[in-house]
Amino acid sequence: MPVLVMKFGGTSVATPDRIRRAAKRVGVEVSKGYDVIVIVSAMAGKTNELIGWVSETSAMYDAREYDAIVSSGENVTAGLMALTLQEMDVPARSWQGWQVPVKTTSTHSAARIEEILTDSIGAKFADGMKVAVIAGFQGISAEGRITTLGRGGSDTTAVAFAAAFGAERCDIYTDVDGVYTTDPRVESKARKLDKISYEEMLELASLGAKVLQTRSVELAMRYKVKLRVVSSFEEQSDDAGTLVCDEEEIMESNVVAGVAFSRDEAKMTLVSVADRPGIAANIFTALSEGGVNVDMIVQNIAEEGRTDMTWSCPVDQVKHAHVAMKRAAGDGVINYKELIADEGVAKISVVGIGMRSHTGVAAKMFRVLSDEGINIKVITTSEIKISVLIDRKYMELAVQALHDAFELDKAS
Ligand code: ADP
Ligand code: ASP
Ligand code: MG
Repeated sequence: MPVLVMKFGGTSVATPDRIRRAAKRVGVEVSKGYDVIVIVSAMAGKTNELIGWVSETSAMYDAREYDAIVSSGENVTAGLMALTLQEMDVPARSWQGWQVPVKTTSTHSAARIEEILTDSIGAKFADGMKVAVIAGFQGISAEGRITTLGRGGSDTTAVAFAAAFGAERCDIYTDVDGVYTTDPRVESKARKLDKISYEEMLELASLGAKVLQTRSVELAMRYKVKLRVVSSFEEQSDDAGTLVCDEEEIMESNVVAGVAFSRDEAKMTLVSVADRPGIAANIFTALSEGGVNVDMIVQNIAEEGRTDMTWSCPVDQVKHAHVAMKRAAGDGVINYKELIADEGVAKISVVGIGMRSHTGVAAKMFRVLSDEGINIKVITTSEIKISVLIDRKYMELAVQALHDAFELDKAS
């Protein structure tokens, strides 16, 4: 039997009634002759609630217990989905990650899937079961502990199962009807894309578009999984939604495919460090060991053998950065005057594979921001994206102005 993977996000399984609607959709695919693997998220808001309980209980929590707790939301939905399908006379059962098993690394709350053993599910399909319901977002480490895959990780579970079972397609059912030129919650003129390349989707996701977890796009690209984003609230035809695919499959596209943003960024500047070989290595080694995910980096002009080093990181890691730099100074591997944190910045990015062959995108982006009186604090570029840090209060304005200026509401 051909296999189909269907993933339902939190809002799509928020209540027993919504689970019933999702299950009906699964039933339609079963009636077409598919063996279906359903990946479920926790009910909307559940994961946040569980995280809140962890923080309330322990400030410096044990990451293994965090994962044991936070993964539980998906277990509930998986059981409810299997029960609902059974009520509809569709042969189904649920699996938690460890039961499959979904083997992962031991990096708690950011684990990576290493292997999915297909035997137990395959045997059940051979036995006449029609739907395997899998709790998304979770796995088991070599040490036998429950792990989670990072926020939005059920997308990655879905793509990994699609790859492991050679699924015909991986459909991501969510609360929007596809991938848009930017988050439709911020720009009402955002346009749904029929297709987007893996490369562009990867950049958009990693730059803040949370419609797909970055790692899921990476896996889809590597294993050539046909990945589709569709609405769970509207009736769907087979070509609805957005297909994430090879760029060769896209006939026409705009130079800029989309605008992404990330709200909770911080800009940090280490003032007056020695300007000599090895210092940058020492700073960023210490930050990495301190659990700080550094994104942009700028080294300022040196004067009299001293320089300033600026980087950006998620705002909730600012305190870790302070600790890491104090420790490095204490160890004598760096010395500096002060560490300044600007916790009120956001990152705005424009993304498009057309930038490989078109010049002038950066100039236009900077002009648009300056026309709105928005100051740019840090800039980084790659072959297919340009990102800037700006004051967070201008984030929405910047997204809308860029969306307008690059005419993203119109197809090329
Ligand atoms: P789920 O719970 O189904 O996993 P998410 O909340 O993780 O859903 O992702 C869907 C949300 O992603 C949408 O509601 C939308 O606000 C947001 N989003 C951000 N950028 C985009 C984009 N470019 N296209 C579509 N949705 C986007
Ligand atoms: N429930 C998890 C989260 O909220 C995983 C997911 O929904 O993809 O991050
Ligand atoms: Mg999600």
